[in-house]
Amino acid sequence: MTGRKFLIGGNWKMNGSKALVDTLVTGLNNATWNTDEIEVVIAPPAPYLDLVRSKAKKEVNVSAQNIYFEKKGAYTGENSSEFLKDLGINWTIIGHSERREIFKESDEVTAKKVAFALAEGLSVIACVGEKLEEREANQTTEVPSEWTNVVVAYEPVWAIGTGKVATPQQAQDVHHEIRTWLAANVSAEVAQATRILYGGSVGAKNSGELQKEVDIDGFLIGGASLTGDFVTIINTRA
Ligand code: PGA
Repeated sequence: MTGRKFLIGGNWKMNGSKALVDTLVTGLNNATWNTDEIEVVIAPPAPYLDLVRSKAKKEVNVSAQNIYFEKKGAYTGENSSEFLKDLGINWTIIGHSERREIFKESDEVTAKKVAFALAEGLSVIACVGEKLEEREANQTTEVPSEWTNVVVAYEPVWAIGTGKVATPQQAQDVHHEIRTWLAANVSAEVAQATRILYGGSVGAKNSGELQKEVDIDGFLIGGASLTGDFVTIINTRA
């Protein structure tokens, strides 16, 4: 046993409607899992966060998909940690590859956001892509001082939304590399305790094999989190 609670995360990205919230949240509210062993986190689009939080049972954690690194002010279009706290939401994803690629968010901005979110008391799913070496070069700005509330999501860009899932061994190899990096650059305790999620075309068909790998501590699921597959994946783990 690793002692790490398996985290099953759903990133809805820019998808949803009130009707879909109703369907997906009802599905989750009717599902059961052992909360000592499994943590479920869903990240709907910002306009639906309040609705999802108010409809979902407490075992379902709700997350933003992104926040800015200031609490308030003239930042048109951005989301604040203050809004999240006001809504009873205590998770956010930061640095998803779509933020980096499409919206040109740099490693530096991502690192600032992670540090800010942690200082605000939020739990963070911090996403890293393929370029681990580049990130290692940037370690001084990348490494937060407080690790308890950080979950790392490894998402190979070529596997996101493509149906091309990494093999369990490919994912395990990178997860192991990330854990080794944490041990060398942060501490052995942090390396042992930090959950490392795999993301990229995870579905009900492949979650069973992936979750057998010792360094895969959960998933960040895009497309399949919008379907009944999400509950199937939880059930497969439960
Ligand atoms: P996908 O997305 O499951 O649709 O590949 C994963 C992600 O980007 O979080």
